[in-house]
Amino acid sequence: MAREYDVIILGAGMVGALTAVLTAQKGLTVALIDKHSGQFDLSVPPAYDARVSAISLSSQQLLEAAGAWQRIDKSRLAPYHKMVVWDGLGDGYVDFDAHQFQRGDLGQLVENAVLCDALMQCVQDTRGIDLYLGQSVEEQGYTAQGVAVTLTSDRQLEASVLIAADGANSQVRLNNGFDTVEWDYGHHAIVTTVEIDQPHQNTAWQAFGEEGILAFLPLPSVADRHFVSIVWSVTPEDAQALMALDEAKFCQRLHYATNRRFNALSLTVPRQAIPLRQRHAKHYVQENIALVGDAAHTIHPLAGQGANLGFSDVSALVPILVKAHQRGEALGSLKILRRYQRARMLDNIAMSASMEAFKRTFSTQQPMVVQLRNIGMSLCHRSVSVKRQLVAHAAGIK
Ligand SMILES: Cc1cc2nc3c(=O)[nH]c(=O)nc-3n(C[C@H](O)[C@H](O)[C@H](O)COP(=O)(O)OP(=O)(O)OC[C@H]3O[C@@H](n4cnc5c(N)ncnc54)[C@H](O)[C@@H]3O)c2cc1C
Repeated sequence: MAREYDVIILGAGMVGALTAVLTAQKGLTVALIDKHSGQFDLSVPPAYDARVSAISLSSQQLLEAAGAWQRIDKSRLAPYHKMVVWDGLGDGYVDFDAHQFQRGDLGQLVENAVLCDALMQCVQDTRGIDLYLGQSVEEQGYTAQGVAVTLTSDRQLEASVLIAADGANSQVRLNNGFDTVEWDYGHHAIVTTVEIDQPHQNTAWQAFGEEGILAFLPLPSVADRHFVSIVWSVTPEDAQALMALDEAKFCQRLHYATNRRFNALSLTVPRQAIPLRQRHAKHYVQENIALVGDAAHTIHPLAGQGANLGFSDVSALVPILVKAHQRGEALGSLKILRRYQRARMLDNIAMSASMEAFKRTFSTQQPMVVQLRNIGMSLCHRSVSVKRQLVAHAAGIK
């Protein structure tokens, strides 16, 4: 006998888990499936998770509404109120300070493992969610009311709608013939945690230059020691060479890549190199299926917006499903799901396009482009109104 739900969600990452909590809180029944065990490595700082996300104010508010943000140990959060960006190939420089515009912070840095753990606690405490961990979907088909899936454990589940939150290589997207527009960015991101020799001033630092695109993102200090998470986007060949360096030489390269602003003292967790790919599904929905988060779109991490876009998807999709449920409408009907697609697609495409433009502009060393971008940065640095808009955008407040 199949168990019946309103919604089946494949993928209990940040986006899937948040979707599950917010829909179940409104009275929908949810099956949440993930191949992962649901246990996260919360090693004690400074062994921070190498994967860190900058969470915008609007995403934070959504996570608060779910009750997840409150569960994060505050000592694992690093608010940042300032961003400093400079061009290593010229004198281009721009900074954004939220305080200048009477805002508190631009956002908060949090380890992915810490955020996922908080969300999983919420999932476990929310009525109406059945959790199927360590499992995947073996088969997927349709019923008169919606979708049917058979899990690897042979259990059968049915629902009106299947939400694919199964990440960049989404099985649901691939198996159901959703077309995508995609290409390699020609970049790998090296991520790790670095102890630096001075306070980071709750500032996110970003350098563009010969050494690639390098972000130094603040993490909580421990006693008098200071840590940043780095995202260093370089060509695959450079990534291979950087990964092969011993720790001391890698730290030395970091020092140069920041124009000697910071001394990198040591790495507190092993480096990881992640290939970066731009991907965008041409449609987010089919009858009875919706794609959310990285399953629908992935972008370059240079502006730290991927998860924030996924949370905005959730913020659009959940009220649409809840309203349809309250009216007794079929949740999986294309008419209902297309409302979600309409609400999100333009925003996501606009963000993907700006990331592509940024990446192209800031990863070239062509003298003309370098000169133009330096002029652009200087102009931006002097324009209070442009800065105000960019600060609002970074905080997710439009
Ligand atoms: C280097 C880097 C830095 C980034 N920094 C930021 C940042 O600062 N701010 C920001 O907003 N975004 C950032 N991002 C983007 C962000 O990490 C992603 O957008 C976000 O993690 C996507 O969440 P998701 O839940 O959609 O997918 P995922 O996190 O990939 O979760 C997918 C879940 O589905 C499960 N799953 C997958 N396939 C199956 C299957 N077949 N069966 C069962 N379960 C399955 C997985 O186990 C996983 O739990 C960054 C990305 C990179 C690469």
